[in-house]
Amino acid sequence: MNIYVDNAATTKVSETAITAMLPYFNQVYGNPSSLHSAGQLAAESLLIARETVANILGCSPKEIIFTSGGSEANNQALLSAAEIGKKKNKKHIISSTIEHHSILHTLEKLKKQGFEITLLNAHKNGIIHPDELIASIRPDTIFVTIMYANNEIGSIQPIAELGKICQEHGILFHTDAVQAAGHIKIHVKKENIDMLSLSAHKFHGPKGIGILYAKHGIPLTNLIEGGAQERGKRAGTENLPAIIGMAAALQEAAKHIDKTAAKLIPLRDRLIEGLTEIPHTVLNGDPIQRLPNNIHVCFEGIEGESLLLLLNNKGIYASSGSACTSGSLDPSHVLLAIGQPHEIAHGSLRLSLSEENTIEEVESIIKITKESVTYLRGMSPIWKDLQEGKRNYVI
Ligand SMILES: *Cc1c(COP(=O)(O)O)cnc(C)c1O
Repeated sequence: MNIYVDNAATTKVSETAITAMLPYFNQVYGNPSSLHSAGQLAAESLLIARETVANILGCSPKEIIFTSGGSEANNQALLSAAEIGKKKNKKHIISSTIEHHSILHTLEKLKKQGFEITLLNAHKNGIIHPDELIASIRPDTIFVTIMYANNEIGSIQPIAELGKICQEHGILFHTDAVQAAGHIKIHVKKENIDMLSLSAHKFHGPKGIGILYAKHGIPLTNLIEGGAQERGKRAGTENLPAIIGMAAALQEAAKHIDKTAAKLIPLRDRLIEGLTEIPHTVLNGDPIQRLPNNIHVCFEGIEGESLLLLLNNKGIYASSGSACTSGSLDPSHVLLAIGQPHEIAHGSLRLSLSEENTIEEVESIIKITKESVTYLRGMSPIWKDLQEGKRNYVI
């Protein structure tokens, strides 16, 4: 039997989302821009989906743009803010060292265009301090983007506080909430969020669909030119089945959010307890300000990739950190940013749970991981050196 614990990479589409989507493939298949009744029926469903997600996020349906996912929403948010900055002759952007690559790579692009970027450092527990944001604000700061919750180490940022600081300084505030959605209640107005990105496939919706929320009055820059869909800000015939599936998944997640957390937190904490019993193991991220479904540890003296393969052979599907950097041999930028040395950062394991995981699965993950780490250490020349005192333990 397989145990899927890689829900931060992607999730299984829920039955609710699938059931909601099905009629939109071959029954309500009109183009929402068509004037005939088939088109208008599709347009009505599109509007209802937009109202559903807007209600959950605490904004107006007019402030929702459907995108192809989290990466596109992040790109559009940043490029829009940059255009606003150019017009106001403000060239300073603040972000953090632990953002997703769809943010960091877009910031690099903006740097080449003459923007100045300050990356705030996350502290050892993966959390950004609001006073450090205040200290980094300049008269020419146009934009701040800080992720809601980290996709590798699960740390949750004080978003409402960061948003308030930006509001007081008249600076636009964006948050990549892709990992937070479905796990943390989000209310964009109460948390002073001007722009926010979501992705359906991280909360049991389909892949290739996401949301950019942009507060009324913020001029958006198009990434894709064409028709007048999405208020003219994102051209292309709407992916209605996916939009319907996303709205259904978000609604379901929002409805059960407390119940889900109450189920996942004990499983998460048992995994943390069990895995950190392994000698020379450290938990990354904050133990409390942490996503209910995230466990991230580093084991000294082993390679994360080898561990993943052993776990895979036993039917446990996990990750070493970010799905985006796996395949490259560079250690995770997030682990380096929180101060983990290279040799530790290589030995990482991320488990990200869903409502479907059970305590029995958790116990077998602990048992199999303990055996696998012991086995790998037995073959590791670095571990031998550590044991013989030829090297010093880092953890
Ligand atoms: C997955 C993820 C993204 C990218 O979303 P896609 O829909 O896969 O493009 C962006 N940010 C974070 C934090 C993520 O975890």
